[in-house]
Amino acid sequence: MLEAAAATIRRGGLVAMPTETVYGLAADATDARAVARIFEAKGRPRFDPLIVHVDRIERALHLTGQWPQAAHQLAEAFWPGPLTIILPRGDSIPDLVTAGLPTVAIRMPAHDWALELIRRADRPLAAPSANRFGHVSPTEARHVVGDLGSSVDLVLDAGPTACGIESTIVMPGEAGSVVLLRPGAITTERLEAVLGRKVAFPPAEPRSRGITAPGMLARHYAPRIPMRMVGLDAEVVYRPPGAGEWGLISPARVQHEGFAVAELLSPDGDMAEAAMRLFGTMRKLEEMSLDGLLAVAAPQGGLGGAINDRLRRASTE
Ligand code: AMP
Ligand code: MG
Repeated sequence: MLEAAAATIRRGGLVAMPTETVYGLAADATDARAVARIFEAKGRPRFDPLIVHVDRIERALHLTGQWPQAAHQLAEAFWPGPLTIILPRGDSIPDLVTAGLPTVAIRMPAHDWALELIRRADRPLAAPSANRFGHVSPTEARHVVGDLGSSVDLVLDAGPTACGIESTIVMPGEAGSVVLLRPGAITTERLEAVLGRKVAFPPAEPRSRGITAPGMLARHYAPRIPMRMVGLDAEVVYRPPGAGEWGLISPARVQHEGFAVAELLSPDGDMAEAAMRLFGTMRKLEEMSLDGLLAVAAPQGGLGGAINDRLRRASTE
């Protein structure tokens, strides 16, 4: 299967590949026509740049003009793993991959199949999440098939993904600083422990700095039913906020009554488990013809930050 997938990549096709975060829609990052097919299949606007996946550091070095100390430290600590590093781009990949930006997003995924696919295809792989643009990211192969169907040439099914939430995206800045562009599976605390300093946050309006990061769009990762987000309060008994059939989704255990369905993602409060179940549960709930979803925030800190980021972007109000 991996050999067939590698051959598909080499002839400019699209392969849905498992990673530790979510399923990716992969194509040869050096082939502009193959990359164009990714945008078409997803309905993704061309101003939204792609993450390029590598199997070893040398392949990453080939993609970028620079390898600052912070990149070295972070790659050493977290690769292979769910951390994407934004670096100045070299000229080995087409403009389409970076949406014309002077930077390229690079990651080494921690999944044997993905690493082996890159190695056998012998190409860096451009791979955004394998969902229709704006929809919830796929954590199982069947989610990919449901969203993209026959526009994918081959789907590698390795079962549900381990993290369930996308990579953390960082950009090394001036004087050793590191800016967090998207919270994700590597927590801010872990980044800071390795860097020995606080990470910086971009200004409230990211596009004003010329960074096109639609992962930062206000509405993204969204289920196809109205969703309202509320704060976490152990004292509160949560109830449907409107008429009709409502679903509840909460990363931690909460008190509730009156919901048609209630999904507590981790009754024991394990946010790694909650992250793993988040997107699959959102997809399950959107299939249930509910009138709306009430989402309760995760506890702050650790993976709670990334989970709340996704819940916020999935909310309609
Ligand atoms: P996805 O792979 O679907 O999770 O989306 C990739 C994310 O990486 C999007 O939010 C992109 O905007 C972001 N990204 C990719 N390349 C860059 C870049 N050069 N600078 C900033 N963000 C980027
Ligand atoms: Mg995505």
